Order: sequence, then structure tokens, then C-alpha cells
Amino acid sequence: MVNEQRLLNTFLELVQVDSPSGEEATMAQDLAARFTGLGLGVELDAHHNLVAFLPGQGEPLMLAAHMDTVMPGRGIRPVVQDGVVRSDGTTILGADDKAGVAVILETLAVLSETGSAHPPLEVLVTVQEETGLNGIKLLDKSRLLSRFGVSLDCGGPPGAIVVSAPTHDLVTAVVHGRAAHAGAHPELGVNAIVVAAEAIHNMPLGRIDAETTANIGIIHGGLARNIVPDRVELTGEARSRQVAKLEAQTASMREALEQAARAHDATVDVEIARSYQGYALTESARMVQALAEACRQEGVEPVLVPSGGGSDANILNAHGKQVVNLSMGAQGEHTLHEQVAVADLVTCASIVLRCVRGFAA
Ligand SMILES: [Zn+2]
Repeated sequence: MVNEQRLLNTFLELVQVDSPSGEEATMAQDLAARFTGLGLGVELDAHHNLVAFLPGQGEPLMLAAHMDTVMPGRGIRPVVQDGVVRSDGTTILGADDKAGVAVILETLAVLSETGSAHPPLEVLVTVQEETGLNGIKLLDKSRLLSRFGVSLDCGGPPGAIVVSAPTHDLVTAVVHGRAAHAGAHPELGVNAIVVAAEAIHNMPLGRIDAETTANIGIIHGGLARNIVPDRVELTGEARSRQVAKLEAQTASMREALEQAARAHDATVDVEIARSYQGYALTESARMVQALAEACRQEGVEPVLVPSGGGSDANILNAHGKQVVNLSMGAQGEHTLHEQVAVADLVTCASIVLRCVRGFAA
């Protein structure tokens, strides 16, 4: 049985250890001690990614989460009120993804005290997930033993099972115009801001369709009020769960930039780079079935959902593993209103426990 008080205490302790992306060393040491105390062999790589292992019987199963949090996430003071945990309103809570880590620790604690049969368990807690899956990208994936895994890095009510996630491309463009004195010789200049504005105006952005999105997130350019700007840099992205749609989207972003540049006698350098690959699992995939069954046993109706965002599961699936993201119960992640209900944490841990025991059977 999941111990509600212990799970809650673990969660409250974890969120009070600061671990903004890139500053996870203290959190990694804290977690290493916790997993060692539960009988796991623990290794930290040079980037503080944690891999821990508990021997068992049969096919190994991975339990994954990430230890970094977004900002503002220093000095988090969790407040428990009416069965819901929130921050004091000045920071995020860090349930994304300390709730996932707490659920994994509770699962291991229950297995340890009950001595029940379980598969070999491989725990992966990464760093720098929030800044573009950098921790998992840097991890040596060849050291991972498991083909199957559960990742606890998804918000929403317990029972949500993420079966697909988009492929993500990074779009960067530099528009080159021609500088000139804005008062004396404006006709000699080519205004790179005007070119960029026209390109952005003509570009399909936002929600393109149910599985495709695009955004220009940063625009940078100009030196002074009285100089026709000769350089503008655009930083954007596109995502789709269909690679063909993604490629059509990035091609139209490129075309809008090139067309505007041609129309104004400017030039543009466009760079499109793949950040990570998407994945799509069917209802019949072994890991999806195992989690859906664990949910039903717990009295929770499983809901298979697509995701609009990427996670460590993208990288693991691209490496031939079948890792499925399961909700850890948080709501309002990446905001000051982030919260998680204690009952949802307990339900999530109970589902993971059932999944682990069922996987050994
Ligand atoms: Zn997360």
C-alpha cells in the first residue's frame, strides 16, 4: 500500500531543494542518497543525470522522471491546504517533475517494505529536461538496459497516458538588409526589420492544425533610432506529430522569409534544425496496455492522449525503447498556480505500483 504521509513528505522535501535547469548538483546528490538508501545501485554521470538499478526478475522496466524545474523556482515554500499542495504564490511548485520523482521513490519504498516480486527496475532521473531535453541528449543511452519504461512527466488527472508526441524543429533566420543614415540617406538603406515584419505577417503561425503548431518567439535587431537596420535575427519553432506536415510548415516559413527578402533586395539565411523526433504508440503497444490495465485495477479510467510538447520520452523512444508518459497529477505546470492534489499523487503512485507488479507477473 502507498503510504500517503510518506509520499507527501518526500514530495515536500524534494520541492524545497532548488534545482533550476543546469543547477541540479545538490538535487542529484540528495536523490542518490535516497535511492542508495532504498537498496539501489546508483550512478551519476558528468552532467548529474542519475541512473539507479534494483535487481529483480524478468524483463527490466524503467521508471523515469526529471529533476530540474523551470523558473521562478528558487526557495520554493510548499503550502498544503485542503489536500492540495501549492507554492506560496511567488514561485512555481516544481511538481513538474518532483511529483514524478516522489512517485518513483514511494513505489520503491513500498516494494522494499513488502518484499513483493518485481522486475529489474532501472530508475532514470535526468537534468535539464526543461531547456530542450538536454540532459537526456547528453546521457550515454547505451548504458540503459530497459526496452520498456514509464515516464512520470505529464500533468493532468491520474490515468492520462501519452501515446504520441510531436517532432520538433528549430527555425532560426537572419535577415540581412543595408544600413544607412535614416535622415540623410534612407533611400540607400534596406530595412531588415521591415523585411522580417513582412515575412512574419505572411507566415502561417500558431495552431496550424490539430497536430501542428508554429511560433516565432524572439526577434532581435536594430542598433539605433536613426540607422536603417541591416540585421534582424528571428528565433522560432514548429512542431507536428506528422513529419510531412512539419516539413511543409518549416518550408512555408522559409519561403515567406525568402519571398520578403527578394521583394526588398535583402537576403536571408534560414537554418532549420531537428531538436527531437516524435513518436506514436498504438493502444496495443505493450507498455500502453500495461499502464491502462494498472489504471483500471486502480479504478481509474485510462485516457490515451496526444501531447503537444516533447519530453525525455521522445529521446528514449527514438533510441528504440517503448517509454510511455503517465500523468503524475500536477496542474498548471510552469506557472505560479502550479498545484497537485495529495489524493492524485497517491493514485498515481498506486497505478505505478500496480504496473510494476503486473510487469513482473
Ligand atoms: Zn516536466
